Amino acid sequence: MVLELFTIAPRSICNLNLENFEMDIEFLAENLCEGDTKRANCPTCGGRNTFTITKKFGEIVWNCYKVSCSTSGRKYSLPNINDIKNRINKKQQTAYPNLPFVLPEHVLLMDSPVLKTYVDKYNLKRDVFFDVKESRAVFPIPCMQTKKILGAVGRALLPDAYGPKWKRYDKQKDLMYFTDPNLDVGVLVEDCVSAESCYNAGFTGIALLGTSMHESRIKDLMPFKEIVIALDKDANMKALKIKKMLDPYMNCRVVFLPDDLKYFSPGVVQAIITKPPAYCPSL
Ligand SMILES: [Zn+2]
Repeated sequence: MVLELFTIAPRSICNLNLENFEMDIEFLAENLCEGDTKRANCPTCGGRNTFTITKKFGEIVWNCYKVSCSTSGRKYSLPNINDIKNRINKKQQTAYPNLPFVLPEHVLLMDSPVLKTYVDKYNLKRDVFFDVKESRAVFPIPCMQTKKILGAVGRALLPDAYGPKWKRYDKQKDLMYFTDPNLDVGVLVEDCVSAESCYNAGFTGIALLGTSMHESRIKDLMPFKEIVIALDKDANMKALKIKKMLDPYMNCRVVFLPDDLKYFSPGVVQAIITKPPAYCPSL
């Protein structure tokens, strides 16, 4: 049997059978990892060890190297479990290293009327810092494991504020903001306030802090039973792209929002996330 020969001695001579060729190729495809090459006797010409089969870029390619033999072919192959594990490990290695970060001195945990108005408006239940210099509501971004603050993002509170609406205080490229890593369902949103709305509705809110997601963060989403991607209306294509990226690793779905989650009460947010309205965007 092909299986035994390959698993016991992967580089030894293996007899592929021309009658079961399709099945044998299928079997080999399932057992090859990305980048692997195996050799065997050619099932067509009988050439000793002249037949090779390789998996590269998700495709299986086979070939006989004997000049007189025309055996060759290719087919698409799904990644197997080892491919997926290897990809995750690779992504963990390519994550950006954590840069040292300290909150600027003008960002404090303090009372301020303008901050209070903002906190009340969006029903924010967790500590929000205040940037005294730029009048911003500042959300610290802690590390999920160590709780150490790795960065921060601040929302301008005054209409004529200096600088952008949302300001990042760190230079870390792949951070996401988690409201609470312990709940079953994680909802991927764009900003911290929407994430907090999800938290108030009983989900872990996860802010991408933008509309794209870095691949090195996939592992942070794997502990959740389900991930719901709920980006703003104008980011439907990005949401579908993120779903495609997450699909091989976890149970996830996209919810197309009627409006930004931060404008809804917790009850409405819960209804939208669990039973999304029948709404199909034109893509
Ligand atoms: Zn051959």
